[in-house]
Amino acid sequence: MPLATYRGRCHCGAVRFEADADLDAGTVRCNCSICTRSRFWLVFVTAERFRLLAGEEKLSDYRFGAQRIRHRFCSVCGVKPFGMASDGSGVAISVNCLDELTPERLAALPVTYVDGAHDRWDASPAVTSYL
Ligand SMILES: [Zn+2]
Repeated sequence: MPLATYRGRCHCGAVRFEADADLDAGTVRCNCSICTRSRFWLVFVTAERFRLLAGEEKLSDYRFGAQRIRHRFCSVCGVKPFGMASDGSGVAISVNCLDELTPERLAALPVTYVDGAHDRWDASPAVTSYL
């Protein structure tokens, strides 16, 4: 499938964005401490394929550990629609924050599991069913 343009938003709608992504090329679920707690299901896009449409002033910015990722979340509703690489290279978009994807479409998306809990980004965790 080619790139398609998707719109997405946080729960309250203060934060809205648009991204050109190829969801069929693969989505990611990770077992690291923050992805597990937020049940983050992501698709990566390069920075030029991401456009914030509204809500920069409502976005909070959480960083931890090596500070490599800006975990952006809406200060009104608390939803995290995306995270951004601190060096500006890319954006990890929450698949669950994209508009108009049917349950059937979501269920059919390919998922790659990564063992972020052990910094093994090219390996699947031993257990994935809870992610
Ligand atoms: Zn919100």
